[in-house]
Amino acid sequence: MTQELDFENWSRRAAEWGVRYRASLRERPVRAQTTPGEIAAKLPASPPERGETMDTIFADFERVILPGMTHWQHPRFFAYFPANAAPVSVVAEYLVTAMAAQCMLWQTSPAATELETRVLDWLRQAIGLPEGFAGVIQDSASSATLSAVLVMRERALGWKGNKAGLVANPRLRIYASDQVHSSIDRAVWVSGIGEENLVRIPATGKRRGMDAAALSAAIERDKRAGHVPAGVIACTGGTNVGACDDIAEVVRTAHGHGLYVHVDAAWAGSAMICEEFRHLWAGIEEADSVVFNPHKWLGAQFDCSAHFIRSPDDLVRTLAIHPEYLNTHGRDGLINYSEWTVPLGRRFRALKLWFLLRFHGLEGLRAMIRNHVAWSERLAARLKAEPDFEIVTEPALSLFSFRHTDAEDLDAHNLDLARRINDDGRLYLTQSRVDGKVVIRFQAGQFETTEEDVNTAFEVITKLARSSL
Ligand SMILES: *Cc1c(COP(=O)(O)O)cnc(C)c1O
Repeated sequence: MTQELDFENWSRRAAEWGVRYRASLRERPVRAQTTPGEIAAKLPASPPERGETMDTIFADFERVILPGMTHWQHPRFFAYFPANAAPVSVVAEYLVTAMAAQCMLWQTSPAATELETRVLDWLRQAIGLPEGFAGVIQDSASSATLSAVLVMRERALGWKGNKAGLVANPRLRIYASDQVHSSIDRAVWVSGIGEENLVRIPATGKRRGMDAAALSAAIERDKRAGHVPAGVIACTGGTNVGACDDIAEVVRTAHGHGLYVHVDAAWAGSAMICEEFRHLWAGIEEADSVVFNPHKWLGAQFDCSAHFIRSPDDLVRTLAIHPEYLNTHGRDGLINYSEWTVPLGRRFRALKLWFLLRFHGLEGLRAMIRNHVAWSERLAARLKAEPDFEIVTEPALSLFSFRHTDAEDLDAHNLDLARRINDDGRLYLTQSRVDGKVVIRFQAGQFETTEEDVNTAFEVITKLARSSL
């Protein structure tokens, strides 16, 4: 026998809790302040035999779980990249959660499919991609990149890879700079192409883009060795310091050799709603596919990754499978988006984008991104003006890296500084390495961040850096 939930009461309480939670964020430490195992120790080792009351469960959520959360929607979250969930997209997600539809085929929710087609075309226009790119929502940029690598593989193998496997074939080769995200490595592993066939092209210059001459030379060397070059993965806004390949040059080189080009702009792509930043990916209109994450900077609650493809037929040819029960009889030509993605099941992800774009309008979203970039540049300039700080990489959009230079062992000192900042709780930053040295990364991108929050970052960073001396 199972008890009945007072769904109305608990839905209301959950929503009210969410409102209070968001309003309280500034008073909370950004990163969870717990030690490993602390939360696990508070959880019973065996499952409950008898149902418990919602009051007990909810109280435990606040007592046990909440202290172990890192607050990604905190206005002083300056770590990694943002994973914004604008309040309006949260509201849309409540509705999606309540309907809980599987949106794998047109017929399993026509509205989900048709809305996805429309809002992705809005996004295409918003970021300045030409007509002809078709969009699909993937669960993550990693999945979009995996799909792109699978297309590269199938194209290069004359569409025989899915059937025959890779055993009898020569080595396929994929090219990327040394600045790309680890999801590229994993796409190459999972596709069966293998890490040894991911050719790293050195990144050069101020923007740390791949050297096109080196790319061309690598492709030719591989052809002479009997390998089969399959594709290039370029990046706009690399994770570490925001590296940007010269897309026009990479595409020209790759297409000259007949290779497919996928561009990973997971973070920086959102900024392309502002025309003044599009020079960072000049030439994008010639790429074969592009991914960016509206679930990062733009404010669509995770997960929501926008994948644009110039030839969706190649993607469908690579990923579609046709068991009889999945056919939409008599409706040929309608889009079944599960044929565009690796997983079959799909959440209704377009609704939050629709709510978000309509509520804030592109103007509202542009204003937010422009503020983040301006505040970040201002903070970098302020730190640079301090005699004991060094800007290691200049702002790429709203991302820069710095280090405190007044210590003997700079690497140890800056690692310790990042740890002390995060333990303090007012900010959350990420440490990293650039050209072998430890740096601290800063990015502004949270939906509710204000200039005051960025000023607080300056105070906390300078004070804690100097307090250890
Ligand atoms: C965040 C990020 C990814 C991974 O995104 P997921 O959606 O989590 O898979 C890939 N590439 C870049 C450049 C990123 O910033």
